[in-house]
Amino acid sequence: MIYIKNVLLNEQRTNILIDGNRISAIGADVKQPAQATVIDGTNRVAFPTFANVHTHATMTLFRGFGDDHDLGDWLNNWIWPNERNLNPEIIYWGAKLAAVEMIKSGTTACADMYFFPTDVARAFEDCGIRAMVSNSYVSFNAEMAAGVRKSIEELEPTIEEWNKSHQLTQITINVHASNTVDDDSLRLASEFCARHNTLYHIHMNETQAEIDTCMERFGCRPYEHLEQLGIMEQCGSRLIGAHSLHLSDNEIAILAKYHANVVHNPNSNLKLASGHQFLYNELRDAGVNVTLGTDGCSSSNNLDMIEAAKVMSLLQKGWRKDPLALPATEVLKVATANGYKALRLDGGEIAVGKLADLMLVDLDNLAFVPNNNSISNLIYAAHGDAVNTVICNGAIVMQDRHVKGEEETIREARRVVNQLITIRP
Ligand SMILES: [Zn+2]
Repeated sequence: MIYIKNVLLNEQRTNILIDGNRISAIGADVKQPAQATVIDGTNRVAFPTFANVHTHATMTLFRGFGDDHDLGDWLNNWIWPNERNLNPEIIYWGAKLAAVEMIKSGTTACADMYFFPTDVARAFEDCGIRAMVSNSYVSFNAEMAAGVRKSIEELEPTIEEWNKSHQLTQITINVHASNTVDDDSLRLASEFCARHNTLYHIHMNETQAEIDTCMERFGCRPYEHLEQLGIMEQCGSRLIGAHSLHLSDNEIAILAKYHANVVHNPNSNLKLASGHQFLYNELRDAGVNVTLGTDGCSSSNNLDMIEAAKVMSLLQKGWRKDPLALPATEVLKVATANGYKALRLDGGEIAVGKLADLMLVDLDNLAFVPNNNSISNLIYAAHGDAVNTVICNGAIVMQDRHVKGEEETIREARRVVNQLITIRP
């Protein structure tokens, strides 16, 4: 049991009791059980923790490598030649570096898209936070499509065994994007998703060029193409469409019809100049579950969901010329409860019965001085370093800003990056 005493929650002083992996009681009159671990919340404010619904954790090792180049140059000359060096050890320490950064900025759940999924999962489990992980499939030709088929077949026994025996991490299915994967592989992955009741995580509608290519090849837009392939219907609320930046009215209607989820990645979209007019109001009003992500550290350079939430809110206000657009309370819900919903986790809010995933933020951090409104301070003033304590699944994973094993993780990340990055253009 964990008893958080006298903490600020929704601008009121209260106590929070955690029993097992759930929040069991909240209230000023909730008494301290004799056997509980006690956290003094006097100088803290409690918030739900974030779900980073689209990221590439191990790419944290590429932070600052090849910035300010165009996408083709960056992929062909900087990233892909070095990714040939990836192995389970590099993947593990890269993912663990990401997990430590996530914890330090208040994130306890993510959807990851990369390679060696069980090694990524091990890294997150060792840090005590949640991750939905998978291989990322790409197929530009028949040989690569055959490789995708073989890899999905090989995943069959692993997913059954892993998902039954692990609580914090789950293996899902990821396909890179509708324009980088052939139709048969897209459908094969969708069948896999339905058969194993797992998430289907895919980059969608990220750039205008992707829309144009789809129009040329199929005479329709990317989500319309997925609908024609039967994938929207088959995956339904299991589908997570990362980016979903350039959408038509019909595509928004398709997303709503099948209860699909989208992930806005504002920092990545801005840095790669993909666009900035994310259709938040339109998606929300149609009933689509909108979530937030950072994307990988190659395109956002950090995994700080507080920063991503601020940028998302400011972008909506800016391009709509509307200061009332996406207020702090609403973007906090997008980054927490909506994300948890997309990942099919019963958390993302501090309420009795919910998963005990929450953070305590330091009221002495200058972003909270004065504390006229704690949600405003969190979204508009703070950075990840305001987070003092993080609890995930009823266990303390960071206290007083220290994450268990972080020194070793930093040391090992510095070591393996020399094995990963051997070609510097
Ligand atoms: Zn991505």
